[in-house]
Amino acid sequence: MNELGRVVCKTCPRHCSLASGEIGFCRARRVVGSEVACANYGRITSLALDPIEKKPFAFFHPGSNILSIGSYGCNMRCPFCQNDSISQCGETDIAWRNFSPVEIADIAKSLVSSHRNIGLAYTYNEPLVGWEYVRDCARETKKRDLANVLVSNGCASENVIRAIAPLIDAANIDLKGASQEYYNWLGGDFESVCRTIKILHEFGCHVEITNLIVPGRNDKDEEIEAVADFLISVSDDIPLHITRFFPCWRMKNEQPTPIVDVYRLAEIARRRLKRVMVGNV
Ligand code: SF4
Repeated sequence: MNELGRVVCKTCPRHCSLASGEIGFCRARRVVGSEVACANYGRITSLALDPIEKKPFAFFHPGSNILSIGSYGCNMRCPFCQNDSISQCGETDIAWRNFSPVEIADIAKSLVSSHRNIGLAYTYNEPLVGWEYVRDCARETKKRDLANVLVSNGCASENVIRAIAPLIDAANIDLKGASQEYYNWLGGDFESVCRTIKILHEFGCHVEITNLIVPGRNDKDEEIEAVADFLISVSDDIPLHITRFFPCWRMKNEQPTPIVDVYRLAEIARRRLKRVMVGNV
């Protein structure tokens, strides 16, 4: 705690400076004593068994299912968020139920043979604003020989990514655009997302990337070229999902991405990357 009685949260690049008891921008962390604690720890708002392709993953145990959990809160404000009913909520806005890491890992294990479950996915809201719960669940899941899957905006501090990377088997990271200018619109930090992708890849995690194409915002040829060029700098083998925007949350009145644009941008990406898929078309 500094001389002004505030504590800086180091979980993500926002570095919220919070007074005692105050909740951060993400609505998932709060100052308790002299530390910023994970306030949504164990608070599950969503629990479902999803096909792994829905995360999306094209090259990680295709045909399997994964128990998927989410809480509430997010450190970004993408106006096209498809999960705003949980990501843009705090503890009093939505129903949640407590599950300990042992309980959730036991549920995942119980679904292995009966439902082709391969493990546990941290998804729906932004999981890394509550990274301590991800870490603790991932440890329990590993003890049961199950996989850990992260679906994240990747906008987190280096120490957070390094803490969880050894526990994560596969990650789908949103690389929403290729510039800080674009990320300014979304309330995120481009360099942090790039660093997250690099670190996860270095740790041997299976990484796939999602790039949502929003009409008039990130649909120029040079933008997908820049996304592809960054991914090549990590590995040209990283799968890229180019997906179609549908009107959601603050962009309810916009038009969906023309399908022809999604295919055009995918073709451009394929000139650089080996594995490019289209989604929501
Ligand atoms: S994780 Fe939440 S509280 Fe911490 S810096 Fe980011 S937005 Fe702020």
